[in-house]
Amino acid sequence: MRLGNFQLTRIFGIPLIIDYSWPPVVLLHIWLLTQFWLPVRIRPAWPLWLNLLVAATITALFFASVLAHELAHSLIARLEGIRIHDIQLHIFGGWARLVTEPKTAMAEFRVAIAGPASSFILSLLFTFGLLLLQQIGSHAAVSLAALETFYYLAAANIFLAMFNLLPGLPLDGGRALRALLWHYRGDILSATRTTKRMGVGIAYMLISYGLFLIVYGMYRGTMWQDFLLAVWLLVIGVFLKNAAENDYRHKERQSAAQTAQWQKLKQFDIEGTVGSVMSAPPVSIEPDLPVTEFIDSILPVHRLATFPVAREGRLHGIFSLSRLREIPKEKWDKLKVGDIMETVDDQFFINVKASLGHAGLKLKENGLGFLAVLDPEGFLVGSLTERELGADKPHHFGE
Ligand SMILES: [Zn+2]
Repeated sequence: MRLGNFQLTRIFGIPLIIDYSWPPVVLLHIWLLTQFWLPVRIRPAWPLWLNLLVAATITALFFASVLAHELAHSLIARLEGIRIHDIQLHIFGGWARLVTEPKTAMAEFRVAIAGPASSFILSLLFTFGLLLLQQIGSHAAVSLAALETFYYLAAANIFLAMFNLLPGLPLDGGRALRALLWHYRGDILSATRTTKRMGVGIAYMLISYGLFLIVYGMYRGTMWQDFLLAVWLLVIGVFLKNAAENDYRHKERQSAAQTAQWQKLKQFDIEGTVGSVMSAPPVSIEPDLPVTEFIDSILPVHRLATFPVAREGRLHGIFSLSRLREIPKEKWDKLKVGDIMETVDDQFFINVKASLGHAGLKLKENGLGFLAVLDPEGFLVGSLTERELGADKPHHFGE
């Protein structure tokens, strides 16, 4: 999906990044308005050039509204002391990327809710303009065009607000709900888990509705009427499901490394050694990864109790959730993985060619129930727990 992007400008010092998937969406939006929206609503029909002009104006204002939504997130985040990486416009709309996560549940709540709030306010403003114009009641083309524009934007902004408030990650409503659960339960991990699940549920609902529209439309013989809506629902549903289930940004980085590793691992598959039963390290984390980012993007995807910490394949230590739980949550946002990992110590790793008996003993003794497996050059190639030792078959990349 990622083709690349470029920086268009800066707004309030924040880089505005245009993804190459975005311009086609702009053109599609203009085309849909010109072909399906305006011809239905305007009687007698306007000439094509006027349709195009009004469609382009509506489209510009629509994406300005999306931008305002993302700016609202960004500016509130800045008030909370968070640095903004950039704002991106892409095929799925907009996305404000923060350098760090909000420090408290209530800060996250305010940042999350700012976007939908701005869309709601914009909708009110356009509605106000619409009512004002209706009062005047002029039938000049200019007045009609303004009327259509205000009507569309009032509706689009209320839609933006409502859709983004759906209560599942990664939508704003999901973030806001997660913040509330985090605040009341005092447990960010369980709050994340709950809202991720709700996000997946919402994605499935959108996909189901899209499929329903197609099937029902075919049955009625009017499939084309709702076809684009159905496609949009399917696409956005799949996107949200993926985003809720795994942090794809992180996943991308991992998968290339995994393929290369898979090739390399085959040579260690020697009967009776650690190499024949180990799992590939499902994920290794870097020592300078902030703990909050680990909780947000890695833990929901990889449900493990222990993670090897490595940089460029070299083992730096072992990070365990039980160790993290010993530290008060208020301190988590200042910590990096490297601050609380167990540093590399002989008891936490084993050579890939070591015997299974030796591995079993070491595993029992170190108290973590986890061993990082290193190749003879010291690179991290696998992981070993009780589970692998119990299994008689080697299993590598389960996913
Ligand atoms: Zn938003």
